[in-house]
Amino acid sequence: MEKTERIQDIFASQVFSEDVMRERLPKEVYKSLLNTIANGKEIDASIADVVAGTMKDWAIEHGATHFTHWFQPLTGVTAEKHDAFLSPVGHGKAIMEFSGKELIKGEPDASSFPSGGLRATFEARGYTAWDPASYAFIKDGSLYIPTAFCSYGGEALDTKTPLLRSMDAVNTAALRIVRLFGDTVTQRVVSTVGAEQEYFLIDAEDFKARRDLFYCGRTLFGAPAVKGQELEDHYFGTLPTRVSAYMKELDMELWRLGISAKTKHNEAAPAQHELAPIFSTTNLAVDHNLLTMEYMRKIAEKYDMVCLLAEKPFEGINGSGKHNNWSLSTDGGKNLFKPGKNPSENKEFLLFLAAVIRAVDEYQDLLRISAATAGNDCRLGGHEAPPSIISIFLGEELDTIIKSIIEGSGYSKRDTKYMSLGVKSVPTIRQDTTDRNRTSPFAFTGNKFEFRMVGSSQNIALSNIVLNTAVAEALSDFADKLEETIDFGGTLDRLITDTFKKHSRILFSGNSYSKEWEEEAKERGLSNFRTSPEAYAHFTDDKNIKLFGKFGVMSETEMRSRREIFFESYRKIKNIEARTMLEMTVRDIIPAVSKYVGALSESVNAKLAVSRSINVSAERDLIEKLSDLLASTYEAYGALERVEKTAISKSSDEEAAFYYKDSVIPRMDALRKLVDSMEILCAREVWPMPTYGDIIFRI
Ligand code: ADP
Ligand code: MG
Repeated sequence: MEKTERIQDIFASQVFSEDVMRERLPKEVYKSLLNTIANGKEIDASIADVVAGTMKDWAIEHGATHFTHWFQPLTGVTAEKHDAFLSPVGHGKAIMEFSGKELIKGEPDASSFPSGGLRATFEARGYTAWDPASYAFIKDGSLYIPTAFCSYGGEALDTKTPLLRSMDAVNTAALRIVRLFGDTVTQRVVSTVGAEQEYFLIDAEDFKARRDLFYCGRTLFGAPAVKGQELEDHYFGTLPTRVSAYMKELDMELWRLGISAKTKHNEAAPAQHELAPIFSTTNLAVDHNLLTMEYMRKIAEKYDMVCLLAEKPFEGINGSGKHNNWSLSTDGGKNLFKPGKNPSENKEFLLFLAAVIRAVDEYQDLLRISAATAGNDCRLGGHEAPPSIISIFLGEELDTIIKSIIEGSGYSKRDTKYMSLGVKSVPTIRQDTTDRNRTSPFAFTGNKFEFRMVGSSQNIALSNIVLNTAVAEALSDFADKLEETIDFGGTLDRLITDTFKKHSRILFSGNSYSKEWEEEAKERGLSNFRTSPEAYAHFTDDKNIKLFGKFGVMSETEMRSRREIFFESYRKIKNIEARTMLEMTVRDIIPAVSKYVGALSESVNAKLAVSRSINVSAERDLIEKLSDLLASTYEAYGALERVEKTAISKSSDEEAAFYYKDSVIPRMDALRKLVDSMEILCAREVWPMPTYGDIIFRI
């Protein structure tokens, strides 16, 4: 940053924001567009040309030459295709043009994006449609227009369309509830999200020197380093110089795009870090999180580092997740999950709380699926990440309130507690009404819910689609009952009590990492899908098809296509990983170990040539151990190769995914164990790749 640049000047300087719109658009056009953005009203086609022209002029002033519709196909990453504003006018001349039509609709060739059977490959047509609720922005000389992406038949081929639909669904339902509590002002209720993002930074040299990192983004072999994270000396520790410079530049670039990166710190594992933005409306939060991941990767290159977003890049130390903080807020800025001073009397809050408890209990499977990927399977259930069982942690105060409501007993408000640290100059601080529970997958954190299961590389859209829609269903059922009753107070109390009673099994405040919880959860009838394929299978269960269908969020066809894609990408990832292991074993690891054994043998011969009585037991022992391991490794290699062949031959992705889980992964694990045992016995200089110790402590 140049000294003269002030943060308030650069923030959102690359964004066609509301300020820019107000300044540049004719008043009527601005008002109409704002109505679309703020209230989700359909865009008036007649204003599109004016908006497009203004956008183009602004973009060109800011150095842009191209525009692109930017969308989120079902690959998990974003897609873009750039067109110049250029338009020939004859006589070898050209003008810069951009029409309303080009703004509203694009026609990228859709044939190479996953569609899960929604579109045969020969039906290449796909459309992108402008999402006015997400601001356009400039990046690398192009004007980026956030869009939704659909097939020729109108089915959503992306993650954004169902997300926008789910936001509409929860808006409609929540509005009905706030009206019942006398709110006549609110026009729109929005779901808000703040996504905390964890990541690793490693040296680019180390990355290039390991094929597993290179092809798969995570290590498939690697003995633990002598020192791991046991000293906990990395968490919140001082930032290394290179990392600190990286974070500064990252913040700056994100700020230019209007992304409010706020918090940054070292995470628990060595080489692990976190970035958290200030929350925003959910569609924007999703866009911003995708851009954040992109910039994390891109800027790392400038510092000769690589940013790893994989969920479990290194075995034995913490993996990375994404904390999806979610809440509902009125357009006036009232957070509907704010308990207030007296939560036990705050019926509106209790009703919204009841809706979330019901939603999470009834759609545990969907939430679990939204965090199910091949990569996240390596992380969930570890000692640092939530287990695969969904439960809600509410905290001491709310637990007590709910208990008193269920039992019909009285509740007396907890006195505010203050803590003195026993040092006069340090002010006394107010104690929160509850401690935190880091082990819970879904925790109430004062005025929002934190879903901690999502994997670090994932698009957070699906988790929020599920949350919005499931909560919309609970709220709209509540509204049905409350709107027709003649005894509002009585019905309200009964609704709250009955819902808490019926769904209290999902509440858990103990240690979610414990073995006992697994047992207890089973007794409570909670689902526990340990692996992604097991979870995916339930995506199209009747109740789930009904839910999404009822609110027009996803049709059955759209759901079936996504189910296909889940299995397909799981299969592809596992296939690449298995093949990478095979290649590394036979082309890097076996040759290296064999060469080392050869060198040891030569040394034995050389020593014995000097005198038959020289002690060669050390070399002998190593030769024997390594030769045994080498033979077993080659056997394990063969075993993996055989199952991998079978996996490839499976015609259905679903069948293949289950086969990978049941037959291939165990063989990958077996091979890894052997290779890791050889690593610790081999000379450092012969090992054909950087070790964990080299990588995680290098920066
Ligand atoms: P922690 O998880 O450590 O308690 P914070 O309280 O700072 O951290 O919040 C974490 C994230 O939650 C931030 O991204 C923050 O902007 C977001 N957040 C705060 N309030 C809301 C809200 N009402 N809706 C959605 N996200 C929120
Ligand atoms: Mg958090």
